[in-house]
Amino acid sequence: MTEDTSMQDAARRLAEVKERIAAACAEAGRDPADVTLIAVSKTFPGEAILPVLEAGQRHFGENRVQEARDKWPALKDRFDDVTLHLIGPLQTNKVKYAVRLFDVIHTVDRPKLAEALAREMEKRDRRLPVFVQVNTGKEPQKAGVMPEEADTFIRDCREVYQLNVVGLMCIPPVHEEPALHFALLEKIARRNGLQQLSMGMSNDFETAIRFGATHVRVGSAIFGPRGTPVGG
Ligand SMILES: *Cc1c(COP(=O)(O)O)cnc(C)c1O
Repeated sequence: MTEDTSMQDAARRLAEVKERIAAACAEAGRDPADVTLIAVSKTFPGEAILPVLEAGQRHFGENRVQEARDKWPALKDRFDDVTLHLIGPLQTNKVKYAVRLFDVIHTVDRPKLAEALAREMEKRDRRLPVFVQVNTGKEPQKAGVMPEEADTFIRDCREVYQLNVVGLMCIPPVHEEPALHFALLEKIARRNGLQQLSMGMSNDFETAIRFGATHVRVGSAIFGPRGTPVGG
């Protein structure tokens, strides 16, 4: 046994998650190549992320711009084919940094943000793919456009702000059946001609795949529980 078992664990758990994705795809009659696994590395330091990079994982998700700015430039220097996904709420005053560092934004949910992103992307000549986040559970404390306002907002993102909208994202309420929310998101995407669905986390990614997820965002099932000091 070596000292760094927690790191070997992350690589082993990554392999298990990939197997479960493959199994869920087989069951749903889907091609696993159509499901992108985003390893959510929020709260974990570079040392914990490294073994997952070394195991070949290339899509990662972070929910805070500042934390990602602290961790990822050094990692991206070593692994220049990484795709970094912003999966947390974005404040307009952080848009400048977000557009520079991230490759995909999953959390576009209001006109002010759409406008700021559009302006910064044009300035940097960096037209990133974006997802519109939908608050499928209509939770007051949660980000995302309300389901009944989604069609209008998606249209504005495309036509007014000229964003490259590729799909929709949701985070179902913790205590509700996620399938209902995944089905709603799929329905809104379909009627708006959007192909990609960012949905499913450690506890429900197999269900999400059944409902058409193209991007699953998996954190603790790969990196272990958050909030415990890593490597200490
Ligand atoms: C933290 C987070 C995840 C990953 O959650 P796990 O339950 O650890 O898999 C996925 N999506 C978003 C938006 C998150 O903030």
